[in-house]
Amino acid sequence: MEKELELYDVTIVGGGPVGLFTAFYSGMREMKTKILEYLPFLGGKVSYFYPEKIIRDVGGIPAVTGDTFTEQLIEQATTFDPTIVLGKQVTTLQKLENGNFIVRTNDGEEHYSRTIILATGFGSLKTIKLDIPEATTYESGNLHYTVRNLEKFRGKKIVISGGGNSAIDWANELEPIAEEVTLIYRKETFSGIESNISKMKNSSVNVLTPYEVVILNGDGEIISDIVIENVKTKGQQTISSDHLIVNHGFAIDLGDIAGWGCDMADGTIKVDNTMQTSIPGIFAVGDIANYPNKLHLIAGGFNEGPIAVNSAKLHIAPSEELKALFSTNMESFQDKS
Ligand SMILES: Cc1cc2nc3c(=O)[nH]c(=O)nc-3n(C[C@H](O)[C@H](O)[C@H](O)COP(=O)(O)OP(=O)(O)OC[C@H]3O[C@@H](n4cnc5c(N)ncnc54)[C@H](O)[C@@H]3O)c2cc1C
Repeated sequence: MEKELELYDVTIVGGGPVGLFTAFYSGMREMKTKILEYLPFLGGKVSYFYPEKIIRDVGGIPAVTGDTFTEQLIEQATTFDPTIVLGKQVTTLQKLENGNFIVRTNDGEEHYSRTIILATGFGSLKTIKLDIPEATTYESGNLHYTVRNLEKFRGKKIVISGGGNSAIDWANELEPIAEEVTLIYRKETFSGIESNISKMKNSSVNVLTPYEVVILNGDGEIISDIVIENVKTKGQQTISSDHLIVNHGFAIDLGDIAGWGCDMADGTIKVDNTMQTSIPGIFAVGDIANYPNKLHLIAGGFNEGPIAVNSAKLHIAPSEELKALFSTNMESFQDKS
């Protein structure tokens, strides 16, 4: 059965920023590379949580929006044409007697690889949705779980449900451009960053606590108004809205990662200084990697990717020399510039 599957040198599980940069470096080292990503799009947490926010802590890039950063990462990652498979969650890894791996996804597909680099972040990202049956019908209309384009909200009446950092951030970002911003939170105290909470409270944002959204009125595609209920008194009121943004956080589905056999600590995978896990041939990079003094920063993951790729290359061909290949020295880039 395994002979029918195309053999890859490296299969990267996770297409977030670190997985993408790792794919680039893997291609540069002439490894046949595949990325498997659960979401229908690349970019991981950057695309999912903060596409419109400004990233300022990646060397050489003073300021860039999450979306632009992701576009550039994808452009770089696809330089050497890796195979990219979207919308599939890796469920099991199996090491074969010949040392290669079979990677299985949630739809039963199998992928065959000499080495594996786990770039899964803390797991598959799943938004916590509004707990109202009719909510799903409005997702293609004016119910949003993330903000992808601020301009869409200019001059509009916005209702935001949530009380964490994201909800407060969006209230502050939208307040200067929207006609009106109302923030509804089911608790009385907020859990976000204090300075952002103060900024919101001192602005024109209409803050309603302790309320929650209970009914969405509309035509099944566009919400026209929202019924909110005081969680203590049960008193209800109706507010009109052009857009409802729900920021109730997210659930991270680590899936079966814990069952893949790699030694773990605090929900992440332990690696040595070659980024190898406790299973030879499986490496981990980015947020999922656990080692002393690990920082959950994109810039840190950009160092781990090349280390893992070089280690994977050595795993495949132990006689290879361990070297840091410089892109500036590569002839293949002369044609691409
Ligand atoms: C709101 C917010 C703001 C941040 N701001 C900054 C910042 O300004 N600067 C900075 O350096 N860092 C920032 N971070 C942290 C940064 O986003 C992470 O460190 C970075 O995204 C880690 O990249 P990664 O590729 O390791 O993981 P992720 O970005 O989490 O990507 C992992 C990918 O793997 C996929 N995946 C997981 N499990 C599976 C599976 N079983 N099968 C298939 N696919 C799977 C996931 O769907 C996801 O797309 C921020 C984080 C948040 C939440």
